[in-house]
Amino acid sequence: MERQSTRRSAKNGDLVLPGDYLGVIEEYLPGEGVKEEDGELIATRPGRVVIDREKMEIKVESLTDVPPLPKRGDTVIGRVIDVRPQTVIVEIVRIDGRNNDREIATSKLAGISISQVADGYIKDMRDQFRVGDVVRALVVSASKTPIQLSTRRHDLGVVYALCSKCRAPLVRRGNKLVCPKCGNVESRKLSSMYRKLSINV
Ligand SMILES: [Zn+2]
Repeated sequence: MERQSTRRSAKNGDLVLPGDYLGVIEEYLPGEGVKEEDGELIATRPGRVVIDREKMEIKVESLTDVPPLPKRGDTVIGRVIDVRPQTVIVEIVRIDGRNNDREIATSKLAGISISQVADGYIKDMRDQFRVGDVVRALVVSASKTPIQLSTRRHDLGVVYALCSKCRAPLVRRGNKLVCPKCGNVESRKLSSMYRKLSINV
């Protein structure tokens, strides 16, 4: 079958829309974001054309694949990596809810200062957080480094924690956490969503 060659093939870096003609199957193999239709290569999503000459492959890199950055007002999920007297350091691993819980590009460090943990006076940060805890927190400032978080709302705080003695997942009992394995009792700034989120961080 002879193919018409009136339409020009896409070049590296071209911006295309779904349905745009990119070339013919004899030129390239269809990669991500490209389908073959009657021997023609057609874009299936908006984005930028990327041609791999070694693999003889053409693909459309989605522009919306650029991972989001946490913004003020976002709720984020992160892991506690350090507990200091006045601050807890959290590694943010995803933005909760926005764009279906998308992972962020590179993990971002954030801080929860003692005044942002909960309403009222806090004596010791170690009664609120421990290293390894998974927390849900609100971004109160993304312009500073590290990003500033708050866990003051009742749905914010620790959502998953391990026993600091035997590493078994702790179970909530009222306002405390109890280890089902060794009976150890610990306290945290608990979120009302403790162990109600799917945690894969
Ligand atoms: Zn234990």
